[in-house]
Amino acid sequence: MEYNDSATAADLRQRAHDFMEEVVLPAERAHDGGEVVPHETIADLRESAREYDVYAPQIPEEYGGMGLGLRDVLPLFEEAGRSLLGAPAMRVDAPDEGNMHTLELVGTEAQKDEWLRPLVAGEVNSAFGMTEPAPGGGSDPKMLRTTAERASGRAGDEWVIDGHKWWTTQGSAADVILLMARTDEEAHPYAGCSIILVPTDTEGVEIVRDIPHLGPASSSEGHAEVRFDDVRVPAENLLGEENEGFTIAQQRLGPARLTHCMRFSGMADRALTVAKTYMSDREAFGSSVADKQAQRFAVAEAETQLHAARTMVRDAAEKIARGEEARVEVSMSKVFAARVAQETIDLAVQCCGGAGISRDLPLADFYEAVRAFRIIDGTDEVHKRTIARDAFDEDAVRPEELESLPRFGESAD
Ligand SMILES: Cc1cc2nc3c(=O)[nH]c(=O)nc-3n(C[C@H](O)[C@H](O)[C@H](O)COP(=O)(O)OP(=O)(O)OC[C@H]3O[C@@H](n4cnc5c(N)ncnc54)[C@H](O)[C@@H]3O)c2cc1C
Repeated sequence: MEYNDSATAADLRQRAHDFMEEVVLPAERAHDGGEVVPHETIADLRESAREYDVYAPQIPEEYGGMGLGLRDVLPLFEEAGRSLLGAPAMRVDAPDEGNMHTLELVGTEAQKDEWLRPLVAGEVNSAFGMTEPAPGGGSDPKMLRTTAERASGRAGDEWVIDGHKWWTTQGSAADVILLMARTDEEAHPYAGCSIILVPTDTEGVEIVRDIPHLGPASSSEGHAEVRFDDVRVPAENLLGEENEGFTIAQQRLGPARLTHCMRFSGMADRALTVAKTYMSDREAFGSSVADKQAQRFAVAEAETQLHAARTMVRDAAEKIARGEEARVEVSMSKVFAARVAQETIDLAVQCCGGAGISRDLPLADFYEAVRAFRIIDGTDEVHKRTIARDAFDEDAVRPEELESLPRFGESAD
């Protein structure tokens, strides 16, 4: 399918496609389903990605990337999503991708030297710590309870952090956590929270556990529960302006949600390719499964939905590139792409019968991975809240639309 992509985006996508076909998919197929992929495999893939000129395309060249804008890298993200190994190989994997973007946007030169360059090089890992267990902030981030207070310590001005986070992706493997904390308890949370860089080897940071969870067997990515008890970091670990945490998070989350949409649409597209191949090869009741009209219509519906999802994501990205916030378009893309990806992967599993459940094919991993997408980066319901708020704005309600309605119980004259 052709999209309104620039020549740069189309070239990048082609290189990413070649890299996926020639390097990543063979590595995935050589790997035993059900086993965690070793770090050395990822490191080797990253070397190859540099050779194909598809490594960290979204990062400015001065920090080790290729310096391309969001709209031009989107098609690459879809290619990367076709295997769970694709995004880490091209260094476009969450949460590092969003964290690198945040550091690039608001980090000081010293913070970029300390964290951004090594992150791009793949020498260190990062995590983003916002969500808290009840009664702290989850769907409603205004309920955030983690605090960071300014104090004078032995080493000078510092932040003293206390709190409890969970679902901190990659937290147990992270060298640094971008931590969202309340820094002004009097202010409305949206005007009183900040992001602070907390190295995980700081005294008082306790990785309690990796939360056992539904998810692919091949990925070693954990989601940690983390406690912060009297954690002290220098005042200069503040990332961006004080009390601007949510504004910064919003700048991070818009693009990060779209890149997630593209990775998952790539995953769904690959699942469909596997299913179409299986169905074309498999016979039942005297003909190929691919010839059954019920299956053909289901695949046609999935292709249509995927095309709509890709188009919506591109539209939102174009608006962001023009400097618009595109909040509603991002929410619509996120809700729609997550549902379409989940339904498409479920269909692919069904079309492959028992093979779809086995870990011989990547579908079982995809099926487990996709479910979380309706919860991460804002649940369906939170995004629908945003869409509905816009749908019910003051222009939407038009009393004159009711003028022709009969008013029962009111006098006719
Ligand atoms: C695999 C995974 C990775 C994650 N990675 C990270 C990470 O790296 N960093 C991080 O900070 N967080 C991360 N999260 C957390 C994620 O952002 C939260 O789970 C999500 O924001 C929902 O918060 P919650 O779990 O507290 O759900 P709750 O707030 O407890 O909500 C429960 C349910 O209530 C419903 N609900 C909520 N509000 C409304 C409403 N207004 N109307 C109707 N229904 C509503 C929704 O169905 C929601 O799912 C991750 C989560 C998962 C599962």
